[in-house]
Amino acid sequence: ESNGHHAGGEARAGNGGAAKMPEIRHTKLFINGRFVDAVSGKTFETRDPRTGDVIASIAEGDKEDVDLAVRAAREAFDHGEWPRMSGSERGRVMLKYAELVEQHAEELAALESLDAGKPLAVARVVDVGNSVDSLRYFAGAADKIHGETLKMSRQLHGYTLREPVGVAGLIVPWNFPAIMFFSKVSPALAAGCTMVVKPAEQTPLSALFLAHLAKQAGVPDGVINVITGFGPTAGAAISSHMDIDVVAFTGSTEVGRLIMEASARSNLKPVALELGGKSPLIIFDDADLDKAVELAISGNFFNKGEACFAGSRVFVQEGIYDRFVQKIADTIKNWVVGDPFDPRVNQGPQVDKIQYDRVLRYIEHGKAQGATVLTGGKPCGKKGYYIEPTIFTDVKDDMIIAKEEIFGPVMCLMKFKTVEEAIRRGNDTRYGLAAGVVTRDMGVANRMARSIRAGVVWLNCYFAMESTCPFGGRKMSGFGKDDGMHALDKFIAVKAVVCPVDASPWF
Ligand code: NAD
Repeated sequence: ESNGHHAGGEARAGNGGAAKMPEIRHTKLFINGRFVDAVSGKTFETRDPRTGDVIASIAEGDKEDVDLAVRAAREAFDHGEWPRMSGSERGRVMLKYAELVEQHAEELAALESLDAGKPLAVARVVDVGNSVDSLRYFAGAADKIHGETLKMSRQLHGYTLREPVGVAGLIVPWNFPAIMFFSKVSPALAAGCTMVVKPAEQTPLSALFLAHLAKQAGVPDGVINVITGFGPTAGAAISSHMDIDVVAFTGSTEVGRLIMEASARSNLKPVALELGGKSPLIIFDDADLDKAVELAISGNFFNKGEACFAGSRVFVQEGIYDRFVQKIADTIKNWVVGDPFDPRVNQGPQVDKIQYDRVLRYIEHGKAQGATVLTGGKPCGKKGYYIEPTIFTDVKDDMIIAKEEIFGPVMCLMKFKTVEEAIRRGNDTRYGLAAGVVTRDMGVANRMARSIRAGVVWLNCYFAMESTCPFGGRKMSGFGKDDGMHALDKFIAVKAVVCPVDASPWF
């Protein structure tokens, strides 16, 4: 099953040490516990965003492969042990899975860096750490899923069962491949569902590796199936499948719409959508300047801006605005763009040529519509998909760069006067994923927290996420939660059971 080759030899790390490249061991579809070729025999290439070179050829799944995976998942659901195990037994397998992911932290982090262009040091802590936490959190939840006793009138006894909904289709993006995998897989496993996962075509490596670890952990065959391939083929086969009971998706708003349409035209399966954002980060005059600058930088340039919850509209109150602009222009000089395997680097390359070109087009729109480039504004590096951290000032709310999700290292800075104005302009977007507020005034902070229409409001922090914390948007950022106990809801069907207490008449 292994076609082991090393990707790209060794990267010279900036401190003179050499970062070890991961071995690519899994390149085929994972169906019913086995790595198999696509029915068509076709493959596609996943590329190294540092260079654009091919890392590996990956099996290209399509409708026939999705059918096989759904059949395996259906069999495992209808007749297999996973949905029938006690919650604590499922939890035990998930804890073992978490332990294996932790033991393979270095390999998983390196796969994420190589395939998605993330700084290795960050991938170790954030991407691996979050993956392990997610499994452990939902392992603990698995034996706490239960219904309730109903208070009914007449002589009736009623209760609810919370049952696994069935076969789940999980379609995930490329920006946090392992985290997104577990944000769907962990609650689905805990609920007792079986599943077909489609990772993004840009970053298929970690999902296949994680499928292999699941098998080692004792997740029964057929419970987790992974179909690598493209959205309009493999992805669409999942969203329109008649025998998939729910689809959970993270990705663009445009594709979220297609997924709802596909559900509507097939079996009306419920969908949960975690989509794009254009989140406001609102900085008041009384903010700690250093902290505000640091939050704006990480809120926009963390993961090279490839984050749905990026705080890409930065509103700064007029009293602090000039000092903020000065300070952020100075501070950003210390932000290092380069090879993600170099430990000094803060920001790696964009995930692929398409995203790179897209971000650069947005930067050109910004310039053309009259925004001022404070820093960056162009690509960097001789090869690969690197873009300078770009900060625009003189941004108007109706400019393209202020309205559309850029998904790259581009920050829009805007000035405001009053709390009311911050609320109005902060909410003036079709999205509603996240928001940040920086102030020492608790009254202002609380008022903002209640007034911003978003799934999460971060007060004096940004990107503060844990498995315990429900995450998911409103408006055109979608609906349904990842993380937190609410994440289980989409994988659970509530059934009411009613019977007369005794032989007395009940109507
Ligand atoms: P996308 O929405 O096309 O891809 C996300 C996932 O959906 C991938 O697995 C893809 O294969 C799949 N997909 C694509 N078309 C599909 C279809 N018709 N049916 C079923 N599945 C389908 O995202 P993208 O094109 O790779 O990126 C475009 C933009 O989307 C980005 O620039 C960004 O703005 C946004 N995005 C958001 C997130 C997020 O976390 N919310 C993640 C990735 C991209």
